[in-house]
Amino acid sequence: MTVEKAIYLKPKKEVSILRRHPWVFSGAIRAIEGAVQAGDLVAVHANKGRLLGYGHYSPGASIAVRMLTFNDEEIIDQDWWNSKVRSAVDMRKQLGLMGVAGNSICRLIHAEGDGASGLIVDYYDRVAVIQTHSAGMRESLDSIQEALIHSLGSELVGIYNKSAKLLRKLKIAAEDGWIYGAAPDDWKPLEYGGAFEIDILLGQKTGFFVDQRENRALLGRLSKGKSVLNVFSYTGGFSVAALLGGATKVDSLDSSSRALELAQINAEANGFGKDAHGCIEADAMEYLKSGVTGYDIVVLDPPAFAKSVSARHKAVQGYKRINSRALESMKPGSLLFTFSCSQAVDDRLFTHTVISAAIQAEREVQILHRLHQPPDHPVSAFHPEGSYLKGLVIRVN
Ligand code: SAH
Repeated sequence: MTVEKAIYLKPKKEVSILRRHPWVFSGAIRAIEGAVQAGDLVAVHANKGRLLGYGHYSPGASIAVRMLTFNDEEIIDQDWWNSKVRSAVDMRKQLGLMGVAGNSICRLIHAEGDGASGLIVDYYDRVAVIQTHSAGMRESLDSIQEALIHSLGSELVGIYNKSAKLLRKLKIAAEDGWIYGAAPDDWKPLEYGGAFEIDILLGQKTGFFVDQRENRALLGRLSKGKSVLNVFSYTGGFSVAALLGGATKVDSLDSSSRALELAQINAEANGFGKDAHGCIEADAMEYLKSGVTGYDIVVLDPPAFAKSVSARHKAVQGYKRINSRALESMKPGSLLFTFSCSQAVDDRLFTHTVISAAIQAEREVQILHRLHQPPDHPVSAFHPEGSYLKGLVIRVN
């Protein structure tokens, strides 16, 4: 492929690219050729000129190039986009997450995990929600839209672009909105049989935390006849899974009244009234201090406490505090589902943090399950940073 614009790396900086890691940091660049602008496709060369592949350029960002291909013969055209999206769709179908009765919610494109650094697409029953995290992906929006229509056919009736907040952080002007069709009248996103109202426009991320599906399913299997407290519930994903699994009583706790309103709507949409599902609008830490003796299972799924490596120490203290607070008053034999979605806190560190929380709470605990993000949020073998969600199921004795 002829790409006029090129960047040349400093000596030895090609090593990670040769290992197919998709990020070129700004400090690794020796020279730039051509009038390169934000979002341009650039050819990436090693110091002495060897062509390493092509990627999207982002001036001013610490990740200056996000590689799209490491193949010097590949051409990034509409066919390339079509086959990228087609392959992502095929994988979700292979996993039984799309085109099946009972499940119509999944992540369709997971950035680096699907070889598309800077792009997230979630799928909610015939509606795709796109988040572009880079100038290059924003420039590629038309191609992405066309590829989604091409690959999904009648399984797609609307595409919503929800990138403005992310792009404004990069000082790129953008507006959210429907770029193709809209949600159908009979829209009914399902996760393993559970129906969910997805607030695409005002909700967090693309509207729903798709990444907890398998962990919610595990909770469902363990919930029969149990009482469950779902802390940091958002719109009640874990709560609905527990209710469908036969929980006798579930309480959703969140500091956001809007999230709780939707949690209640979601419980009701699945046939559970206020007797089975309660809402607690509170600060999680304050509430946990008052004790959680009454529950058989407690879920702790806080927002990312560490958004960067520099924030890691404080984040670990935060995880330790909420976990020890919960463990202190949980009844013997009960289960704690505890999570971290901070990429900067890895599995080992999270496990150590929860263990030290148990020591502080003076509780004997057993680790029953180690949990992760599901396979529709794949981790590229060449980009281990893509692994971000981790959790433990702990039995408190
Ligand atoms: N478990 C959810 C996702 C949790 S997202 C799911 O499966 O969908 C994190 C949630 O924590 C958000 O809904 C946010 O409103 C809530 N939150 C953030 N800080 C909080 C606090 N201090 N106390 C209670 N809830 C909080």
